Amino acid sequence: MKAVDEENPVGIDLEVAERLQNLPPYLFAEIDKVKRRLISEGKDVINLGIGDPDLPTPDHIIEALYAAAKDPSNHQYAMDAGMPELRQAIVDFYMKRFGVTLDPNTEVLPLIGSKEGICHMPLAYINQGDYVLIPEPGYPGYQSATILAGGESYFMPLLEKNGYLPDFDLIDSQVSKKTKLMFLNYPHNPTGAVCEANFFDKVVEYAKEHNTLICHDAAYTEMSYDGYKAPSFLQAEGAKDVGIEFHSLSKTYNMTGWRIGFAVGNAKAIAALGKVKANIDSGIFQAVQLAGVAALNGPQEPIEKNFDIYKERRDILIDSLNEMGWKVQKAHATFYVWIPVPPGYTSSELTTALLEKAHIVTTPGNGFGPSGEGYIRMALTVPKERLLEAVNRIKEMHS
Ligand SMILES: *Cc1c(COP(=O)(O)O)cnc(C)c1O
Repeated sequence: MKAVDEENPVGIDLEVAERLQNLPPYLFAEIDKVKRRLISEGKDVINLGIGDPDLPTPDHIIEALYAAAKDPSNHQYAMDAGMPELRQAIVDFYMKRFGVTLDPNTEVLPLIGSKEGICHMPLAYINQGDYVLIPEPGYPGYQSATILAGGESYFMPLLEKNGYLPDFDLIDSQVSKKTKLMFLNYPHNPTGAVCEANFFDKVVEYAKEHNTLICHDAAYTEMSYDGYKAPSFLQAEGAKDVGIEFHSLSKTYNMTGWRIGFAVGNAKAIAALGKVKANIDSGIFQAVQLAGVAALNGPQEPIEKNFDIYKERRDILIDSLNEMGWKVQKAHATFYVWIPVPPGYTSSELTTALLEKAHIVTTPGNGFGPSGEGYIRMALTVPKERLLEAVNRIKEMHS
């Protein structure tokens, strides 16, 4: 093999497709570069940047994977529609947790992580020029998927003064006519904001009036504190007529690397997404599906213990920051802390200062959309000792 000479490239010289060029620049690239430099210099970097649980997957789930991986019948291509055992476990979970009835054959679709389903959804519905309503700040996948499908994004600002709920009255009426999908996400990444069940009634009303399919991202419904229990969109009357809900085992069961999630709800939308997937992927490794069954059906005490750990971390971090005069609210859900930046900083300036001076990785709020300017996000995915160390470094930075 001949090494490629960058000055005189051998072979093809092609431009990538416009849809790739149209994707927003990877805002975290610069942070990543600095982080890698600090690590290579031997600096002790505290990473509060990504929402990826540091706690291990519970043992009984690993045991289920191990047993299933030893069974050769699980080694072949899985069915696109998912194993009946998994679909039934999802149905049982929705009944037990939310009191929602689902048909395992038409209203349930296992996914290779919920991101996979979320990002394939626009391919099922969006033609050139169709609009997708997207909350901002929000999970970056909604916009990327819209661009990759050739659609137009219309952003719904989520503001603190509105409890981070969108104001549907502000949506341009010309846009609503051309809108096919609306993404929502409660409990919300990155703000940690939650909604009450009656908000979803308003969403159903909007969807019916404007013929818009709702795609609710429910990645954090299980991770809540202080007695708050997050509702499912599908609990709202008529929700199944107008939408689907994406669910993930990743954050709840510390299974981000395993790649398993699911979509539930409107049968037509489930079938449309299933058709996209049938042409692209070949299902989830069956051993992972059976591990998912163990997660959903098994004891929930291990994950409740995890949530106690996140709550303790949340309280330690926020109480210490507020003792320094910062003004941080405690969110009732997710493992994120959404922090208004102290006077004198923009989001990126604070993120850069924390990284360069205190070796702490955080995420600038504007990376999730323009309304995130003035905030940074920290993830509670390191032990409390490390959070206290982070707070000490921030104190030193200020003195
Ligand atoms: C983590 C996350 C996802 C993706 O979860 P996977 O199931 O691991 O793909 C989707 N939406 C939000 C809001 C998330 O934070």
